[in-house]
Amino acid sequence: MSASTSAPRREHLQTLPGDDVRQVLWRFEDRYDLQMLVQSTRAVARGPVARLVAQGGRHTHDWTPEKHALLEEFDAAGITAAYLDPEEGGFLEGPKNLALALIAFELAWVDAGAATCSLATHLGLAPIHERGTPEQRRHYMSLAAPAPGRQPRRAAFALTEPIPYVGVETGLLGGKVRIAEWPEGGEPILEVNKRGRFITNMAFANFVTAAVDSADPRIKGSCMVILEEDDPGIFDRGTPTRKLVHQLSATNDPVLQLRVPASRIVGGYTVQDGVIVPNYDHSAIIEAVFRRTRVTVGLMTSAKLLSAIEPLIRYHRDRFRGAEAVPPGSPRYELGLQQKEDVTHRLVDIWAAGEASASLGFAAARLFDELDPVEREKDRVLAEQGVRGGLAVHKAMRKRQHEAIEFIEMQGHNQALRNEERYRQLASDPVIRYIVLDAQANVLCPATKLWNTGHGSVMMREAVSLMGGYGITEDCPGFLGYKWMDSQLEATYEGPEAVQRRQLSVTMTNEVFLAQFRNWIHEMRQIASVEPGTGACTLASAMHLWLWTLEHLQHARDAQGQKLYQASRHGVTFPMADALCWLLASRCQILDVEHLRREGPGRIQQGFEGTVQFLTDLCHVQAARAAGEVARICSEIVYGYLRHPSWDDSPQCSTCFAELELRQIESVVPGASGFTGDIYREDGSHDTKAGPCVRAPGLNDFARLRAKLDGCLAGALLAKDRAAESVQKVMIPAALDYPQ
Ligand SMILES: Cc1cc2nc3c(=O)[nH]c(=O)nc-3n(C[C@H](O)[C@H](O)[C@H](O)COP(=O)(O)OP(=O)(O)OC[C@H]3O[C@@H](n4cnc5c(N)ncnc54)[C@H](O)[C@@H]3O)c2cc1C
Repeated sequence: MSASTSAPRREHLQTLPGDDVRQVLWRFEDRYDLQMLVQSTRAVARGPVARLVAQGGRHTHDWTPEKHALLEEFDAAGITAAYLDPEEGGFLEGPKNLALALIAFELAWVDAGAATCSLATHLGLAPIHERGTPEQRRHYMSLAAPAPGRQPRRAAFALTEPIPYVGVETGLLGGKVRIAEWPEGGEPILEVNKRGRFITNMAFANFVTAAVDSADPRIKGSCMVILEEDDPGIFDRGTPTRKLVHQLSATNDPVLQLRVPASRIVGGYTVQDGVIVPNYDHSAIIEAVFRRTRVTVGLMTSAKLLSAIEPLIRYHRDRFRGAEAVPPGSPRYELGLQQKEDVTHRLVDIWAAGEASASLGFAAARLFDELDPVEREKDRVLAEQGVRGGLAVHKAMRKRQHEAIEFIEMQGHNQALRNEERYRQLASDPVIRYIVLDAQANVLCPATKLWNTGHGSVMMREAVSLMGGYGITEDCPGFLGYKWMDSQLEATYEGPEAVQRRQLSVTMTNEVFLAQFRNWIHEMRQIASVEPGTGACTLASAMHLWLWTLEHLQHARDAQGQKLYQASRHGVTFPMADALCWLLASRCQILDVEHLRREGPGRIQQGFEGTVQFLTDLCHVQAARAAGEVARICSEIVYGYLRHPSWDDSPQCSTCFAELELRQIESVVPGASGFTGDIYREDGSHDTKAGPCVRAPGLNDFARLRAKLDGCLAGALLAKDRAAESVQKVMIPAALDYPQ
């Protein structure tokens, strides 16, 4: 049982967690370059962006000069160049996933449309960055860099098409490419026809990376092509989308009909028997692109939740100040609405969700920073072994999967008991490291996009409601009403929730991921044994229940004998994906706070103890909430597909006792009837209910785990009470620091 029931009195949070705390939590305490980037992005967000929102810049969906002026602010602050390598005009060395995540977080703290506007250029460049030829990379990435005396060239990414084509189903391409000319011995000239729907940056983009399908027997399959505004043909930016959200980004439905050389095929091509064969089809490119950019989108919603805390506390505290009947110094004057438990408890829920989603998102961003160089190294090693091309690489990796699992299992072993030489051999093998990290990334990315935005938008509604009527006005401090609406777009673009759930339902059953997940259960129990107040034990029990359920579902069937876990059965696979996200977010939150507990002393100047204790309580609150969700989802799926027993089941209710029989038992063992199930009376009638209660002998283990998990919730609400008390006591600045 959690020791938090008997914990000694704790210190309270003195001030809202500042940059020093965030840097340690999200692991950029030693990255001075990123700290500077955060500061310069923040100055743009809380200055020009916030002023434009406050002046009503969001009231038109047209792309105005005022909105356009933000692009220059992004350039000057280093936001535009943050995606580029130094030789391309950038300033950050190495992988940039965490850097872009921090930019998105800072901008979305004020306005996620501004964040989208900055990131859409990176999205437009991403196909070239991930899969472009060296020449394409050098040319277009450098063009995108701000340089003295020259406007950077800006990009857009065009996948989505007018109905009935590309949306959630990215394979249904209406955009076409055919060969217009193929001079003897020269480069083919392509004619590209692409109509886009909802294309961000299209109001000003200088070039577009567009997904198209072949409409010519001399071109194989699909590809992405780079289209420039000066190419011969039609480059019609189209009408602006009449958005209700993210009005600080430009979204249009363009019409593109252009002639371009075949060298614009992203990633290049070969000619085989007179047919152009693109090196990458459009699916391979968008997979590589989205798996990184979706993490930043998830973090936009996290920023909104955490940005809501300060305005809410201020509103609640000040609510009754100035009334004649409320003298200064009285509890009502000092605490205002914070006297009401519901108000502080709900705020704690929003805060805990914000922390968990930020922890999950930044963990995913850091994971991609770790993965990127390992991926290149893996490609190099496989190429040296003569393994090239998608299918051959895939096969080679599958063959080594069992070694990756062996490595993960060794990670979970006691160091003294494992074969250290074998362990080191596996640990230094880039192919093994890639398989392990990739399995994790394939889960963390969709989980961040799905949970941060989906659950985040639910919690943003909660934040708006805690502001009362103010919440749904344009004057709401922190622009909470706008943020609530905006979060729905974050849940939709770059693949809506169904896409993320679909991906998770496959990647979360990968044995390499599950082997890591088993280690994580153990890791949580270990943390719980040292820091029981984190809720890590509750989380471990919930993880165990989820894993049991997932394994059970692999062979379970419904009442009609149909297999439960299969791709088309969204009623089973999708909720299991949702449940996993709750667990992952809570785990990342606990790991971050444990990191802060270890690394914080000496780095955090003031109020360290109170901060760590408060964040620990938030972990506990969130772990309990996650456990509740997981228990609900798992129970519903495990029992929900069974047929409910009926009174008509033969022979006469085999599971029921006869009333007479029960009376006889009671006369021998008084009180025994309390332990029996359903009964039928002498006249054959039963209690008024649907049928005998469900008994599922094969599910005893599930029932035991579920009962254990319920008990693990002990202490969670005590943690919430403590956190709520901190919310009453924490000092906040006299006024919000934006607009500046
Ligand atoms: C403001 C904004 C900016 C955007 N920017 C860009 C951009 O820059 N570039 C770009 O290419 N696109 C962009 N998009 C498009 C965006 O990515 C798509 O809107 C999104 O992927 C959903 O596609 P859809 O609107 O056609 O929805 P639909 O495909 O019609 O889906 C509607 C709903 O149906 C359900 N559904 C559909 N298919 C399935 C399925 N197979 N399984 C289960 N459920 C399913 C889902 O619940 C889904 O949410 C933008 C959109 C907006 C609104």
